[in-house]
Amino acid sequence: MLSTMQDVPLTVTRILHHGTTVHGDAQVVTWTGDGAPQRRSFRDIGARTAQLAHALREDLGVQEDERVATFMWNNAEHVEAYFAVPCMGAVLHTLNLRLPADQLTWIVGHAADRVVLINGSLLGLIAPLLDRMPTVEHLVVSGPGDRSLLEGVRPRVHEYEDLIAGKPTGYDWPDLDERRAAAMCYTSGTTGEPKGVVYSHRSIYLHSMQVNMAQSMGLTDADLSLVVVPQFHVNAWGLPHATFMTGVGMLMPDRFLQPAPLAEMIESERPTHAAAVPTIWQGLLAELTAKPRDVSSLTQVTIGGAACPPSLMEAFDTLGMRVCHAWGMTETSPLGTVARPPAHAIGTDEEFAYRLTQGRFPAGVEARLAGPDGAHLPWDGKSAGELEVRGPWIAGSYFGGVDGEVLKPEDKFSPDSWLRTGDVGVISADGFLTLTDRAKDVIKSGGEWISSVELENALMSHPDVAEAAVVAVPDDKWGERPLATVVLKEDATVDYAVLRDFLATRVAKWQLPERWALVPAVPKTSVGKFDKKVLRRQYAAGELDVTQL
Ligand code: AMP
Repeated sequence: MLSTMQDVPLTVTRILHHGTTVHGDAQVVTWTGDGAPQRRSFRDIGARTAQLAHALREDLGVQEDERVATFMWNNAEHVEAYFAVPCMGAVLHTLNLRLPADQLTWIVGHAADRVVLINGSLLGLIAPLLDRMPTVEHLVVSGPGDRSLLEGVRPRVHEYEDLIAGKPTGYDWPDLDERRAAAMCYTSGTTGEPKGVVYSHRSIYLHSMQVNMAQSMGLTDADLSLVVVPQFHVNAWGLPHATFMTGVGMLMPDRFLQPAPLAEMIESERPTHAAAVPTIWQGLLAELTAKPRDVSSLTQVTIGGAACPPSLMEAFDTLGMRVCHAWGMTETSPLGTVARPPAHAIGTDEEFAYRLTQGRFPAGVEARLAGPDGAHLPWDGKSAGELEVRGPWIAGSYFGGVDGEVLKPEDKFSPDSWLRTGDVGVISADGFLTLTDRAKDVIKSGGEWISSVELENALMSHPDVAEAAVVAVPDDKWGERPLATVVLKEDATVDYAVLRDFLATRVAKWQLPERWALVPAVPKTSVGKFDKKVLRRQYAAGELDVTQL
């Protein structure tokens, strides 16, 4: 028997409508660096969202299901794109500003992005690559930046404000099936190409409700959230959608992500909450230690994307900024666990230990651990296995490209379709996850992935290199950095600086290893793969002759 309830699709359009009416006075404040932040109400954002949708459809011909890319910082215009694109039935594709050129151009081509919304301050990154982005026909530029960088480029260039000016401030939003694609984000590929994760209207709606729960971020309209986590990184952890549900204000740092302006914006705008990866907070801590500021408004800090060091949590606690640690992935929208200690532990010696775990699974995320032989392990806080998850905001496949192919690689999904996270850990009987290792070999530096395979492949393309293996090693500042271990060909005499310069022409500068070691051979597993566990162990035991460049 069916229920008697109304069948109302859970869409981003409903979130937009709610935010711009019930919470119309809430604000998005964008830092401009000139002492006069831009302030825009949710109501005005709603009107401009409608204008943007008209411009995209009527002037640029954007069709349903078409991907519309953004190459933008966190700011009000990016929030407008967050709503205009999905609500008109197209798919918001947020491009990662920090990707190396090869990956960026590959992703734009794979998603067949025809329209790219871009901030003026980022033109220098895109302009030299446009020849390698044949699908791109239109660039829509907002914010300050040198437009002359686009002189003579092939795509048509539009000014965002000119394009939306005079357009109607209402839009007849289509009724959309809640399972339709709303947004997409590519993961960095550990092997081969990056993979596109496509979020549905429904997954975004349900994820936003979970983000808003008291046991997750639990913010209200009395809060102002400093959204440092980039809008290109898993929908800024769902904050733009979640805040439109609850009327939480958003403070957007735009391009001012360095510790000094972050401290300044906290002092002057007085946010109550902030979200970012540990590296950002390490930088802010150093800044506040060197130059104390009044950051007393900031009482809640969500840290995720990489493990939160205990020292950081302690230091923030001392400053009155209570850290809440969380775990997630691009594939999990990202909220997977949140480390709010259980009631019985609050005020006891156990409380801090609970807060340092990756956190507890919320309703909506089912979890299990798979041992090396695939058998499922007990939740006993001791048995370590690969974490597998499933739920309504967790990816069930990857975007296979415009021909509609569905990618469901076996190493990413179990035969019964649970997501294999590649993270290894234990789960306690009360559902708290502690990650102990990572099955994947990519390196997480400052919250961003570095692909070891990409570095290895680049190194091994040098004529003097026989073999190269790159592993993650702990780093005080960045969490992890790459260590390059190299086997030279016989009689080769090349030195590390030359190899580093060689790499610099192939990968982004921030990915270049500082630590190098020559090894006689890369250790191998029984099936002949590089055995990186051995390398990591050798490094930890001080058995490698490491040179720091
Ligand atoms: P991404 O898809 O780029 O967001 O990266 C997801 C990966 O980051 C996860 O699979 C974990 O390996 C790592 N990660 C995210 N959050 C945490 C955390 N709180 N502690 C440890 N690792 C984390």
